[in-house]
Amino acid sequence: MSVLHAEKEGINNYSILASHVLVPPAMEAILDDKFCTIDAFLGAGHVCAIMGTEEYVPIVNKYKIPVVVTGFEPLDLVQGIYLAVKQLEENRFELENQYARVVKKEGNIPAKKVIQQVFEIGTREWRGIGEIPNSGYVIKEKYRKYDAEAKFKISHIKVPENANCIAGEILRGIKKPFECEQFGKNCNPSNPLGAPMVSSEGACAAYYHFSDIIKN
Ligand code: SF4
Repeated sequence: MSVLHAEKEGINNYSILASHVLVPPAMEAILDDKFCTIDAFLGAGHVCAIMGTEEYVPIVNKYKIPVVVTGFEPLDLVQGIYLAVKQLEENRFELENQYARVVKKEGNIPAKKVIQQVFEIGTREWRGIGEIPNSGYVIKEKYRKYDAEAKFKISHIKVPENANCIAGEILRGIKKPFECEQFGKNCNPSNPLGAPMVSSEGACAAYYHFSDIIKN
């Protein structure tokens, strides 16, 4: 919206650094990994509030795996996990929407129109996983003057991952955070070495804050 407003108002000293990602290609990359041990997915409710639920149907059918779109309150999460486990126990694989009070099948249509107007699909680098084709939004040529990456010529800048961080294995569900040698020692929320320890909902940060509960 801000890009469209900038164009409408003739504002030229404005740009954005787009880092939007698309969830389904990342899910497929994880599921295609030969070490994958994922049994089911909780679809992030905030993403689905915009994008809707339909883009998960091909994944459910192709990989025969439950996907439960889930909200963020504690009870939402418990119910989302319950629905996923119930599917597994009943040998079902379906798309279910636990977060129906917010997420509609079609998503937010006006917001999706704006996204399609300004962005096109392109390759995106995922921290800890690497490049995934067609997994992100890049600004269309028409709006390139608002693209900070092009404007400031910074697309060559790469930030290397910490060599001791196993975030890729954590993010793909191959290892648990406490299996990382850095966990709670050199890496903690005040001094994160990787993405999963940065934000409070990151797997490593969650294990760090609640490890006593998890162990018991
Ligand atoms: S504990 Fe820290 S270093 Fe280890 S995987 Fe998590 S973020 Fe990376």
